[in-house]
Amino acid sequence: MQIHAAPLTKLVSEIFVTAGASPADAQEVASHLVEANLKGHDSHGIGMTPAYIGNIKADLLKVGAQANLIKDSGAVMVIDGQFGFGQVVGRQATDMAIERVKTTGVVCAGVRNCHHLGRIGTYAEHCAAAGLVSIHFVNVVGHAPQVSPYGGRDRRMTTNPFTCAVPRHDAPPVVLDMATSAVALGKVRVAYNAGNEVPAGALVDHEGTPTTNPAVMYEEPFGALGPFGQHKGYGLAVMCELLGGALAGEWTAQPENHRSHHIVNHMFMCVMDPEAFGGLDKFNHEVDAMVDYLHSTTPAKGFDKVRVPGEPERESKALREAEGIPIDDTTWTGLLKAARSTGLNDEQIDALIKA
Ligand code: NAD
Repeated sequence: MQIHAAPLTKLVSEIFVTAGASPADAQEVASHLVEANLKGHDSHGIGMTPAYIGNIKADLLKVGAQANLIKDSGAVMVIDGQFGFGQVVGRQATDMAIERVKTTGVVCAGVRNCHHLGRIGTYAEHCAAAGLVSIHFVNVVGHAPQVSPYGGRDRRMTTNPFTCAVPRHDAPPVVLDMATSAVALGKVRVAYNAGNEVPAGALVDHEGTPTTNPAVMYEEPFGALGPFGQHKGYGLAVMCELLGGALAGEWTAQPENHRSHHIVNHMFMCVMDPEAFGGLDKFNHEVDAMVDYLHSTTPAKGFDKVRVPGEPERESKALREAEGIPIDDTTWTGLLKAARSTGLNDEQIDALIKA
């Protein structure tokens, strides 16, 4: 089905309110998820709602929890998300860093114990909107690993996202926001739900043989998702694990730590004011000139033009705002099931999506 962002946000927000969230938190989480769909990342969109509702019911996601600054050394902050909605405590932690950068020029923050932070680009875009550069190393724990190290076939890590955004003074920011696995796990889920294959080179089966069948991640005997970019992508994933998961006293995916059906993100975030470095004028000039230079590249065969990171998401958003967001049947059925499990009835659901 195809649905516009506004009614979809209304429905998802109401599901979270019915599950016990405040209207403001529910709206923030729903807007974040729908924005991920708009930006083309269905893996991190409203399809996450059933997992969030399941975790609220299991008391793994603490509705109403706030980000708590537990260690403050000026430019170094440790912030605990207390297993609240990642979208809420992640934004609150980012706000704390943005405020602090005004006096310190740079902030390194360990943001730990957040329920799923969703699309990490959201926090980088929040910094960029304040004119700040940010780098985010994130690990994903609380459940069994899914990603094999380069050269291995056993699962040892998860999809550990890496994100970096650079603001531009009169244009949208450059935003690199990516899983360090060959594809985001959610994209494997979307392919599995839709009965599609995943691109070659992303998965191995239980014997370590390459496969395009997403079922190896969901049906026994299990295979594994590989890292992107061979040893280099694997190396970046390891750094997400170690910086995101160890620096601020958090936990990594190693087996001493607890695993259930939890979705926990720990994020190491470095936020920088360009003015505190070489000054804004030079920075703005160089960023603009370099982006123009990249855009002026002659397209290779099979490409329409050269883009900088962040542009595909903005193009997707413009298209989906106009045409609506496509939702596959399995995802839609799962969303309705989650809605009913919170107590919403079909009449209420219909009224929300038709309003
Ligand atoms: P992707 O592969 O679609 O895109 C990765 C990056 O490449 C983006 O910055 C995009 O703008 C850029 N890009 C894509 N095509 C391009 C082109 N033609 N030219 C220039 N740049 C281009 O993203 P992904 O790896 O599938 O990640 C999807 C989302 O999943 C991200 O938002 C990430 O934060 C999120 N994620 C979250 C978690 C979590 O635990 N919270 C875990 C993994 C991934």
